[in-house]
Amino acid sequence: HHSKKYKHCFNFYQPEMATSLQHRFDLQQKLREALDENGLEVFFQPVYEPVEGRCTGSEALVRWRTAEGFISPADFIPVAEQSGQIRKLGMMVLRKAFSHTVALIKESGQALTISVNVSPKQFVHGYIVSDLQQALHESGIDPRCVILEITEGVLLNNVIEAAEVLNQLTDLGVAISMDDFGQGYSSLSYLRQHPFSYLKIDRSFVQGMDQSRQDRALVEASVAMAQALNLKVVAEGVETQTQSLALEGLGVDYLQGFWLARPMPGDEYRALVLQQTVNA
Ligand code: C2E
Ligand code: MG
Ligand code: MG
Ligand code: MG
Repeated sequence: HHSKKYKHCFNFYQPEMATSLQHRFDLQQKLREALDENGLEVFFQPVYEPVEGRCTGSEALVRWRTAEGFISPADFIPVAEQSGQIRKLGMMVLRKAFSHTVALIKESGQALTISVNVSPKQFVHGYIVSDLQQALHESGIDPRCVILEITEGVLLNNVIEAAEVLNQLTDLGVAISMDDFGQGYSSLSYLRQHPFSYLKIDRSFVQGMDQSRQDRALVEASVAMAQALNLKVVAEGVETQTQSLALEGLGVDYLQGFWLARPMPGDEYRALVLQQTVNA
């Protein structure tokens, strides 16, 4: 595996390297360069409304393309968080996601949503509020098109401070979605106490639906609970037609996953949206 040729390349698939200090430092440096050189991209994964099968918007997913291939956000988001670069990265994603979406809304005449992931570190000191405000202002996007996806981790450490930030964000007119629902232990109580509009069922449950009665029961219960709390339900990680049909049958509001569409560059997303205008 460790041929000499790759000595100076990052090997992102070696768990022992992910914990090595040198590796993390190298990754930090590379990330800093990528951010400075506008080397990070935003991909868009379409979100579908199941009844008509229309794409109603997308989720922005950051991508880091290197000579050795793509580095997964699961690998570099933690690095950005630890090295203080997450604010800059997050602002870049907001700007690119909003400007692309606002242009596409104008061009297509469709009301598209844009979902952006916000990490817990972005909630520290509440700077996400002024950053979001600035990004909304710069792009001119209607805040009602914007959904911020957060995980329960945002609320775990300092629930009072985070709740205040959440309220300030919703005051700006955006919606909040609970991402990866079912993964943690606290999401349930948070849903009731904080201003969530969407619940996104974690893909591990969606993917287990076909084989596991328990996973299917969990998905069903999540949908019922979301409906009782007046939340819209999104199922992520839909990979098969069977899952798609089952979720539609359960009354899930939105579907997202490889079965419907993979995350794609902005121009491909644009083509997909414009295509459905033609067919409408
Ligand atoms: P997430 O927000 O839960 O995003 C869903 C992840 O599942 C994405 O991975 C997406 O590519 C992947 N996915 C979508 N459909 C399917 C499917 O049908 N099957 C499978 N197996 N996977 C599917 P990705 O892009 O690698 O992102 C991973 C995580 O990194 C995200 O999880 C999110 O927590 C974080 N992330 C990504 N972009 C950003 C960003 O701009 N800012 C922050 N703070 N976090 C981000
Ligand atoms: Mg997400
Ligand atoms: Mg998710
Ligand atoms: Mg996830």
